[in-house]
Amino acid sequence: MCSSHANENCLGWAARDESGVLSPYKFSRRAVGEDDVSIKITHCGVCYGDVVWTRNKHGDSMFPVVPGHEIAGIVKEIGSNVRGFKVGDHVGVGTYVNSCRDCRFCNDALEVYCEKGIVYTFNGIDTDGTITKGGYSDYIVVHERYCYKIPDTYPLASAAPLLCAGITVYSPMMRYKMNQPGKSLGVVGLGGLVAVKFGKAFGLSVTVFSTSISKREEALNLLNADKFVISSDQQEMAALVGTLDFIIDAASGDHPFDPYMSLLKTAGVLVLVGFPTEVKVNPASLLLGMKTITGSGVGGTKDTQEMINFCAAHKIYPQIEVIPIQYAYEALDRMIKSDVKYRFVIDIENSLK
Ligand SMILES: [Zn+2]
Ligand SMILES: [Zn+2]
Repeated sequence: MCSSHANENCLGWAARDESGVLSPYKFSRRAVGEDDVSIKITHCGVCYGDVVWTRNKHGDSMFPVVPGHEIAGIVKEIGSNVRGFKVGDHVGVGTYVNSCRDCRFCNDALEVYCEKGIVYTFNGIDTDGTITKGGYSDYIVVHERYCYKIPDTYPLASAAPLLCAGITVYSPMMRYKMNQPGKSLGVVGLGGLVAVKFGKAFGLSVTVFSTSISKREEALNLLNADKFVISSDQQEMAALVGTLDFIIDAASGDHPFDPYMSLLKTAGVLVLVGFPTEVKVNPASLLLGMKTITGSGVGGTKDTQEMINFCAAHKIYPQIEVIPIQYAYEALDRMIKSDVKYRFVIDIENSLK
């Protein structure tokens, strides 16, 4: 075990090079500052971002990389100025741990779009010059602004994926007013499954698009989607032309956009939250019917807290598969192969050693 004192070590699991192989790694966290919260990490979700930086996919990894930005845990120490949290509170930390706190976006609680740039939870350079280390570790120290309260009734394991996957879809859903009962939403791609749950909670009619028939059962019975469509089935796609108000596109594999744009009604909006290598559309897909393609990346601190509260109030729980840290490398490998059923969540508390 480690303590929050800077002279003692924190235990994490790190990738040492772009093989991405993870192994135990000891390092120091900063001492708890007056505005900081120190959190014993119990769970950490496994996100595609963990693949990106443990395997240096963007060429900017600073090894050793301790990944993980869907962090859930319990407050174990607070700084003297901290007002929002107390020891024992259940809390979460998402994809960023610092920002300038002074620009127009920070002042609007949209810190993720901070004009000076946010500090990512791992593989980022913090204002003190240290390289940030993520949630595949036994504790973390963050400024209370970037920490979220998780209601005691909400399981910490289920809360973890909300901090990246959940807020990534919730934030644009609120921005584009998808919370209007009776409207219709299309969800493309595995990463968007929690969007189906939000959509149903908002009273939308939800259609799931997938390349694989194997997702049908889950989409209709587990997630309660209204329709399930195989995106390569031209007949099924043709039947839906001009019927959707919104599409959340969470597919990171390359795929054509024009067929989806044709499904939108006039003034419809497609929000991209996945990361394909290219977005290519025929101008007619935008011009005829004044349609919009837009993007979104996670969300601000206010939205994030609101989303967690919404999930607790509506009993929305992401589908998860809890794994030990020893399985994390294989889990990341399976993400690359799209061989994933539910969101992996690492049981840090019981397996990290
Ligand atoms: Zn993520
Ligand atoms: Zn800022």
